[in-house]
Amino acid sequence: MIYADHAATTKMSGTAVREMLYYMEEVWGNPSSLYGTGQKAAEALWSARERIAACLHAKAGEIYFTSGGSEADNQAILSAAGKGKREGRKHIVSTAFEHHAVLHTLRKLEREGFEVELLDVHENGLIYAEQVEEAIREDTCLVTVMYANNEIGTVMPVAEIGAVCRKKNVPFHTDAVQAAGYLPLDVRSQNIDLLSLSAHKFYGPKGIGILYARTGVPLTNLIEGGAQERGKRAGTENVPAIMGMAAALEEACANRRKNTDKLLKLRKMLIDGLSEIPHSALNGDAECRLPGNVSFCFEGIEGESLLLLLDDLGICASSGSACTSGSLDPSHVLLAIGRPHEVAHGSLRLSLGADNTEEEVGRILETVPQIVKRLRNMSPLWQDKQRGKKEFLL
Ligand SMILES: *Cc1c(COP(=O)(O)O)cnc(C)c1O
Repeated sequence: MIYADHAATTKMSGTAVREMLYYMEEVWGNPSSLYGTGQKAAEALWSARERIAACLHAKAGEIYFTSGGSEADNQAILSAAGKGKREGRKHIVSTAFEHHAVLHTLRKLEREGFEVELLDVHENGLIYAEQVEEAIREDTCLVTVMYANNEIGTVMPVAEIGAVCRKKNVPFHTDAVQAAGYLPLDVRSQNIDLLSLSAHKFYGPKGIGILYARTGVPLTNLIEGGAQERGKRAGTENVPAIMGMAAALEEACANRRKNTDKLLKLRKMLIDGLSEIPHSALNGDAECRLPGNVSFCFEGIEGESLLLLLDDLGICASSGSACTSGSLDPSHVLLAIGRPHEVAHGSLRLSLGADNTEEEVGRILETVPQIVKRLRNMSPLWQDKQRGKKEFLL
């Protein structure tokens, strides 16, 4: 099997698995218990917080554990909105191509009377700090812009956006779920107030994530109950998952440069090779993108059919995001960068990771053009285009 869907999830690293097993088999007490084995778990939790904080240039007391990226996004946004409401500020700035964990939370706030302004994404899949600066008003209570897009891999200038927000005194949240292990994470120099991460995107376990909230940025609970996470997130901590996540994040950050160099080579091979397919187009800027992300549109095919045929040949890839596949709507991300509906339906996302090899990329490059050709030959629409009855869009 060739796994080229690391933006959907990753296989856990051996280090993270071993760390988890130790806390399942040896230190399984409740961190809130006062006897030794509970206190050992509590100490481990705090050490995980310190290790994670070090990776982000944050303080341990600014790290909160959540059930994943979605929960971290929800809590960050609802917390800032709650403070805004108390202060009479109900304007939020975001972008049209955020993850649904952000967009659907914003939609909920809109129904509660907030005004949500979604910035237009440029054709190259980027948002610029000037757009954010122009959009910020007196009554803006939050700017939330993702660090890297999960479908097309484009990388936003978060440090510049953070500087604009700090200057205007508006809290800045970034969904950095796709960035961990690939891009620099430094909440101090990047002026980030709230940041979301998800362990299963950086070779850690599923169902666990991180919300960083800068000291002084208030959090609202999504889950009421015990006093865990300094009263901000009730429920007995998932100690093994948290320990696995800390180990995975340290490893991902330590290997960042090495992995990036390797992935940049593989990405270039893939982009060069797939660009040779006629009537195809790379989605998003060619350079300003995650080192492992390759996203294409192929005119005249359905992305779902392409995925099924790739699966038959042992290649795991994606079309649009995992959350929207299964629905017939084209990806909101591809529509946001201006792809027409018809073209957006023919998308392919290949997201490479640490274990992919040149040989695998070679296999992908032999396979995809053949399948695209086969699907086009079966398509009446494609035949109309070839006979000049319909126009080519790419
Ligand atoms: C995967 C992902 C999420 C959701 O994270 P979960 O841990 O699966 O809830 C949020 N945002 C982005 C950009 C993602 O890629």
